[in-house]
Amino acid sequence: MKIMLDQLLSEEHRMVRDNTRRFAERTLGPIAREIDAQERFPMEVYKMAGENGLIGSTSPVEYGGSGADVLTNALIKEEFCRVASGFGMSVNMCTTNFCFFIAKYGSDDLKRRYIPPVIQGDALAAFCLTEPGAGSDALSLKTSYRREGDRYVLNGAKTFITNAPIARYFLVVAREHGTIGAKGGTLFVLESGMEGLSTGKPFEKMGMRCSPTGEVFLDNVAVGRDQILGEEGRGFQIMFETLDEERILGAVNSIGIAQACIEAAVKYSKERIQFAKPICSFQMVQNMLAEMATQLCISRQFTYTLCPFVDRGIKVTMEASMAKYHASVMATRVALDAIQIMGGYGYMKEYNVERYMRDAKLVEIGGGTSEIQKLIIARELLKP
Ligand SMILES: Cc1cc2nc3c(=O)[nH]c(=O)nc-3n(C[C@H](O)[C@H](O)[C@H](O)COP(=O)(O)OP(=O)(O)OC[C@H]3O[C@@H](n4cnc5c(N)ncnc54)[C@H](O)[C@@H]3O)c2cc1C
Repeated sequence: MKIMLDQLLSEEHRMVRDNTRRFAERTLGPIAREIDAQERFPMEVYKMAGENGLIGSTSPVEYGGSGADVLTNALIKEEFCRVASGFGMSVNMCTTNFCFFIAKYGSDDLKRRYIPPVIQGDALAAFCLTEPGAGSDALSLKTSYRREGDRYVLNGAKTFITNAPIARYFLVVAREHGTIGAKGGTLFVLESGMEGLSTGKPFEKMGMRCSPTGEVFLDNVAVGRDQILGEEGRGFQIMFETLDEERILGAVNSIGIAQACIEAAVKYSKERIQFAKPICSFQMVQNMLAEMATQLCISRQFTYTLCPFVDRGIKVTMEASMAKYHASVMATRVALDAIQIMGGYGYMKEYNVERYMRDAKLVEIGGGTSEIQKLIIARELLKP
C-alpha cells in the first residue's frame, strides 16, 4: 500500500525506494523487535547497507558515494524508518549530519579520510551539538577550544548524542574560549582513540532503542588545523545553512513510522472479527483509518516537495520547520490510533505498534522540539 502520488516520483526514485524496502524487510524486519528489546545497533546490517550503496547516497561519486539528490536520501531513510526507525535515525546521522557536512565544507583531505569508511558501512559517525545545559538554546553551548601554538585544545561535554557509544568519528561544535552567542563557533572532526576523548555508557531510552545515544567528553583534546571543518569561526553559520535538510530528514523519520502504523492497522482491521464482522466495517474504525491516511499523505507530499529546493540551494526555512512539526505530531497521533484500532493486541509488544509509538515520540523532541519549530515558523511569518 503506497499512500503517495507515486506518479510524482521518477522511475529511478521508485527503484531506489523499492530496493531499499526489500533490503530493509529482509535484513531489519526479522530482527527489529529483538534489537529494540536488546538496545543493540545492528552493525551487520549497517555493513550490508554500505555494501548496497544505501549510506552514501548523497556523497560525491569521487569519494565512493552515488552523488544522488536529497529526495533519494529521504526515500532510503523512509524505508529504513518504516521497519526499524532507530536504524534509520542512526544511518541518517552518518549520511546527513556527517558525510553531507564533510562533502559540502571539508577539504579534499577530510573528504578522503572520513567519507569512505562511513559510506562503506565500516564506521559510524556522530554529530555533537547538544550539551547538558544547552538543548533548544544551542548557542549557549560551552564546549570550547583554545589555540596553543599550531594546536587547538578542546574541552567540554556533549550529551544525547546519537551513535556516540559506538561511533568512530565525531563532528563536534565548539566555540573559541571567551566568545558568546552566535560568534566563535567552529566545527571539529574528531576520532575515537584521540587522547582526552571519551564516551559514556549508552542511555536507556523509551524508543529508538536500537540507535545508541550517549555522552561525549573532551578533556584537553589537542588537534591540528586540518581537523577543522570549513573556516574557523564559521561553525554556527555552517550549522544554520544545513538545517533545512536536517529538518526535512527529521520529518521523513516520522513518515516512515506512520506508514508502518497504517499498514499494521489496515491489515489487522480486516482480519479481526468482532460482532461477526471484520472491525474495518465499523465506521468509527474507518474514521480513524481515513484520518491517519490523510494526515500521512499530506505530510509526505509536502515534505518530499521540499527536497529539490535543498538540492538547488534555495532556503525553505519555514517550510522545513512546518514539515518536521506536522510530521512528528502526525506520527505520534497515527501510532496511538493504530494501537487503538488493534485494541489489547496493539498494546502487546508482539504486534510492533507500541514500538512505533515509542519511536514516534522522539521526533517531536530531537533535532529541535515542536515548540522551537513553531517559533521558527512564526518568526518567518512575522518578518517584515
Ligand atoms: C534520542 C535522542 C537523540 C538525540 N541525538 C542528538 C544528536 O545526535 N546530536 C545532538 O547534538 N543532539 C541530539 N539530541 C538532542 C536534542 O536535539 C535535544 O534533546 C533537543 O534539541 C531539545 O533539547 P533539550 O532536551 O535540552 O530540551 P530543552 O531545550 O530543555 O526543552 C525542554 C522543553 O522546553 C521547551 N522550550 C525550550 N525553549 C523554549 C522556548 N524558547 N519557547 C518555548 N518552549 C521552549 C522545549 O520545547 C521542551 O518542551 C538527541 C536527543 C534525543 C532524546
